[in-house]
Amino acid sequence: MKINAPEISIKQENLSSFDNGVKSTCAIAQPDRYRHWASTPRDSYQISRGAGLSLSAASFETESLSVSHNKFNRILDFDSATGEVEVEAGIRLFSLHNFLVANGYFLPIQPGHGQISIGGCVAADIHGKNQLKDGNFLEQVISLKLFHPSHGILNLSRASNADLFFLTCGGYGLTGHILSVRLQTQVLPSQIVVTRAQRFPDIDSGLQLLNNEATKADFIHSWHDFSQTGKKYGSGMVFMSNFEAIDEHAGSPSKTRSVVPKSLGNRHRMPAANLVVNRFSISALNSAYKRINSTNMKGKRSDIADALFPIHHLQGYYYFLGSHGFHEYQILLSKDVAADYLKQLGAVAAELKIPITLASGKIFGGQQNLIRFSGEGVCFAVNFLRSTQANVLLEWLDSNLVLFGGKPNLIKDSRLPRQIAEACYPEIGEFRMKLRNFDSKRLFRSQMSERLGL
Ligand SMILES: Cc1cc2nc3c(=O)[nH]c(=O)nc-3n(C[C@H](O)[C@H](O)[C@H](O)COP(=O)(O)OP(=O)(O)OC[C@H]3O[C@@H](n4cnc5c(N)ncnc54)[C@H](O)[C@@H]3O)c2cc1C
Repeated sequence: MKINAPEISIKQENLSSFDNGVKSTCAIAQPDRYRHWASTPRDSYQISRGAGLSLSAASFETESLSVSHNKFNRILDFDSATGEVEVEAGIRLFSLHNFLVANGYFLPIQPGHGQISIGGCVAADIHGKNQLKDGNFLEQVISLKLFHPSHGILNLSRASNADLFFLTCGGYGLTGHILSVRLQTQVLPSQIVVTRAQRFPDIDSGLQLLNNEATKADFIHSWHDFSQTGKKYGSGMVFMSNFEAIDEHAGSPSKTRSVVPKSLGNRHRMPAANLVVNRFSISALNSAYKRINSTNMKGKRSDIADALFPIHHLQGYYYFLGSHGFHEYQILLSKDVAADYLKQLGAVAAELKIPITLASGKIFGGQQNLIRFSGEGVCFAVNFLRSTQANVLLEWLDSNLVLFGGKPNLIKDSRLPRQIAEACYPEIGEFRMKLRNFDSKRLFRSQMSERLGL
């Protein structure tokens, strides 16, 4: 479908998924006035774009007009008694965080980098630092305003247009443009978070420890060394953080700190990273990481911003994953099979001589529905560089994920085949049907929605 929008200013830009797997030249609009929505094309494919940081190509497609929400980034309302805040969807997390902490509140469920937008968090129904305790981003959403060219502006909440509300939260931008979001924030217990790291010798004990501690920690994840072989495969550390008890440092109240993270993108990545990233370099780095953290993390105090957005200090990691791109394979598996799948993954990766640059786990709880990455089990992510061998590993990962009854995180994978998504998400057909009932023209399209046939 030709993009037909004579009244709005459109540029052509080269856009790519954060993992560098998909690159396209696309039409993009950068509106900065509400009147834009009145001239939004009614018969052209389109898709909202937040910060453009998804690993999947979820906010662009060659035939679609990407509509950036960057300029819609204001705080519209704040109730200091209840902690309810209403924001435009393009606001970046760090900016909202700075405002909230200055007022004694925070959002517990946020992804690891402050440059991500609120619209992107709603649309991907992201998870935070302890999904078991807090749930997905949806838990924080009270209501939202959605614009669709065929329906105008709609108010959605659990009480009003509930079906469309749940289709939009975790609907990957396919129901329309989210204009604003009303969120329930929480009282910030303390500006300081205390983190302890506990070592474990192998994958089984690591997942066990993670599971045992997840109900007690405010933020928790495991880190594993997949460069080890034999009994030490998957050894690592569980990082557990809790808010500091408020009276612990009475007399020296901590000041609130504003954070302004560096911009994050995928343009500056190391050329020929595969010459540097190999099993030996990863093994050496992992050993150093273990050593440093074992001594540093015996009750390390850090600012809440560092705990919520740990990647601000680690974003150089993505540079070393190379200009050729990388894969993030994030999955949810039931607790009784997770260790088995991960051990087999290690054996296949070792045979193919693929270094796993990152391996990390979280514990999830609750019900899964539609195409949200949620439900009970172990959430586990691995990273590795793109290569021909990596494609063989991915085939193994996909087919075994289906056999093991797991789920892939759709927003983290720019190449996941449609049949794997269909095999893993039984409600994908219901999602499609509801989407078509609302939007018979299926106007909102991204590379991800086309690939997955949504
Ligand atoms: C460094 C890093 C760390 C991350 N950590 C986590 C994590 O801890 N947990 C987690 O779950 N995810 C995590 N993610 C994934 C990330 O949270 C999601 O991909 C998120 O959707 C990115 O938001 P964005 O603002 O970049 O949106 P984009 O990538 O631009 O878009 C993402 C999706 O949101 C839709 N969208 C964006 N704005 C709107 C709007 N206003 N209206 C309607 N739809 C909209 C788009 O159409 C698209 O489908 C991480 C990603 C990175 C790069």
